[in-house]
Formats: sequence, structure tokens, C-alpha cells
Amino acid sequence: MVSEKEKENNQASEKNDVLKSTQTVIHLALDKLGYPEEVYELLKEPLRMLTVKIPVRMDDGKVKVFTGFRAQHNDAVGPTKGGIRFHPNVTEKEVKALSIWMSLKCGIVDLPYGGGKGGIICDPRDMSFRELERLSRGYVRAISQIVGPSKDIPAPDVFTNSQIMAWMMDEYSRIDEYNSPGFITGKPLVLGGSHGRETATAKGVTICIREAAKKKGIKLEGARVVVQGFGNAGSFLAKFMHDAGARVIGISDAYGGLHDENGLDIDYLLDRRDSFGTVTKLFNNTISNQELLELDCDILVPAAIENQITEHNAHNIRASIVVEAANGPTTLDATKILTERGILLVPDVLASSGGVTVSYFEWVQNNQGYYWTEEEVEEKLEKILVHSFNNVYETSQTRRVDMRLAAYMVGVRKMAEASRFRGWI
Ligand code: GLU
Repeated sequence: MVSEKEKENNQASEKNDVLKSTQTVIHLALDKLGYPEEVYELLKEPLRMLTVKIPVRMDDGKVKVFTGFRAQHNDAVGPTKGGIRFHPNVTEKEVKALSIWMSLKCGIVDLPYGGGKGGIICDPRDMSFRELERLSRGYVRAISQIVGPSKDIPAPDVFTNSQIMAWMMDEYSRIDEYNSPGFITGKPLVLGGSHGRETATAKGVTICIREAAKKKGIKLEGARVVVQGFGNAGSFLAKFMHDAGARVIGISDAYGGLHDENGLDIDYLLDRRDSFGTVTKLFNNTISNQELLELDCDILVPAAIENQITEHNAHNIRASIVVEAANGPTTLDATKILTERGILLVPDVLASSGGVTVSYFEWVQNNQGYYWTEEEVEEKLEKILVHSFNNVYETSQTRRVDMRLAAYMVGVRKMAEASRFRGWI
């Protein structure tokens, strides 16, 4: 017998199933654009999904076998592109959904890529430097046949960084017997990384916040901002908001949140955060992540993980603008509630596309062996994101749909057209 509680849990996980939700919106977007059902059949799942086992000799001499994934959603437009996540909760379904989101991001900012994504079930917080190196190299050996500079180009994601990209690039270069900087992006500068890549996701979110604030008639100067998550996106974003004259009144990490109506000392917090974005452990007077999300503010930025704003708390959100720096932080039910309440929601596939945009710049620089200045990178990123934001905003206005559906409509179109021209559908 399934108990009531279990039933409820199953229903909730069904609702918060990120693959299902993204498929629902893709279906709606394709319907709105007038595409037949077979286009949905092609795009609802990745074209390829590889599951690998990675044996790693741990520092204690024992071998531990890790499970990894690489999903390639659709390569009609060009090679697939997307990050690799190291996290204990990584699942096959999640990696599939993340690869679809990458396709949408690349479509929205108009890059010559399809979407891909990778993940390894592991907890890097409990692993040594050398164990992480062996795991990173083992993963590249396991997926080497399906990736490459013109096949599928990985990058950083949750709990992976430029050092991990460097080991992966080195391993791939050994297998390929060439120096292959274009195999992966998010590398250190000395190995062919790009200026501005580390801060690119946060820069992109900042541009979206600025454009959304203009639409809502909110001045950034003095605006009250709450940021959930203090990893790569959240921490730099808090800094950029602070530098723009906004008041960052709340931040959080996996262990809790900090709140100060007068504005937090962001430089101090940045200085004290560890490489996994943990900082609140140093304080006693913390609030919960749920309390943080419900703080009275002008701009709320979920920059952590999936399913944070749901039908249970969407009614209590007090921001005027919600900008999704994380992938999938708001469920579809919650999207509906926020939109009905007149809150402007800037969806993940648009707001967090700055990272892959500068990854594309990095790959272009690697391919031509000619490197750009930080100003050049920033200028190009600014142009692309301002245009993409306004394109999605106008689509939402003219087609009378919410910003998420509008972003999917913009993001899916090129992929569907390219698949058609190739004769796939
Ligand atoms: N992991 C990032 C994302 O989810 C960046 C991907 C990339 O740079 O390819 O958008």
C-alpha cells in the first residue's frame, strides 16, 4: 500500500521533474509557432545520452567507481555545448533537462551550437585535489569518443572550475595527440581561457536585471536585491549589484542566509567565501533559505539550484522582478503564480546565457589563435544580451505569453528550422 504521504511526495516530485517541465514548455512553444508534433518528438529528449563508469583510485588506495553522464540534445545547428556538473544529486533526467536548456540558451543568444550537458555523481567537497584530478581525467577518457572541438564542447557548471577544465583539456590533448584548447571552455587564461569568462554568467544576469528594471521603472541605484546562492553566479552578481549602487540586503549558501536591511558588506563576504561558495557558517544570526526568498525586496535572484520557488511559496514572494541565474529554480506552477501577480520573471534560459556566450567567444579565440581584450569581450556580450533580452520581452508582449514561454519560442526556432533543412523532420 502506498501511504498518503508517499503519494504526496510522488506527486510533488512528478511536478518538480525538471525534464517533464521543460518538455511541457517546449511543446507549448512549438504549438504556438505552428510546428507539427514530429518536431516535438525529435526535440523532447537528447539525441544521444552516454552513461559511463569511472574507476578512480582514491588516496586511501581503494578504488571507487563513479557514474557520469554526457547528454547531447541536438546538433542540427552546430556542435553541442554545455557544462559538466559535479554533485551528489546529479541524475540522468536532470542532465537531459540541462542539455535541453543549453540548446535553448544557444538559440536565444544565437550561437552556432546545440545544447549538451555532463554530470558526475560525486561530492567534490569530500575529495582531495588529486582525487578530483583523477576523476576529471577518467571522465574525459570515458566520453572522449563523443566529444571534441567540433563535436561537443564542455565547460564548467556547479562545483567545477578552471582547474578541472585544465586537467580535462590536458587529458583530451593527450588522447587527440594535439594541443586542443578548443575542446573545452572556462580554462585558465594561460591555457587559452578568455578574459571575462569567470564573471560572464553574473555579467549576463546583471544586464538582464538592468533591462528588466527599465521595463518596471525601477532604478538600480538604491534598489533592494536578494541573491540566493553564493557560487560563481551568485557571488559575482552580488558584487556587480553592489558596485551598481544597489543595496544587497540578503545572500545565502547551502547552509543558510544572511539578512541586513542596510545592505551587506559584499566585499568582506567575497573575501571569506570558500571555493564552493560557503560563507554563512561563519555567522550565528542566519535565516533559512525559505525566509530569504520571501524577504521584501525589489529584485530577487535565485542563483543556486532547481525547484526553489514552487506553488508553496510563490504567493509569498515580495519582489517586483525575479531573475533566474540558476537553471530551473522556479517550477511551472510558480511561474504562473508570479506572472499572474504582475511580477516580471526573467527565465533561466535567457538570464544565465552570459556564461555560454563568453564560452563561445573563448572557443572562437582558440580556433583562430588570436585573443581579445577584456573590453572587447564585454562590449560583445553586452550587445548580444541587450538584444536577446528585448527580443524575448517583445515576443512575450506581442504573443501575450509569459517570459518563459517567449524565451522558449525564441530559443527553439533555429533548432527546429535547422533540423528541417537537414531533412530530419
Ligand atoms: N554551465 C553553464 C551554463 O549552464 C555554461 C555552459 C558553457 O559555457 O558552455 O550555462
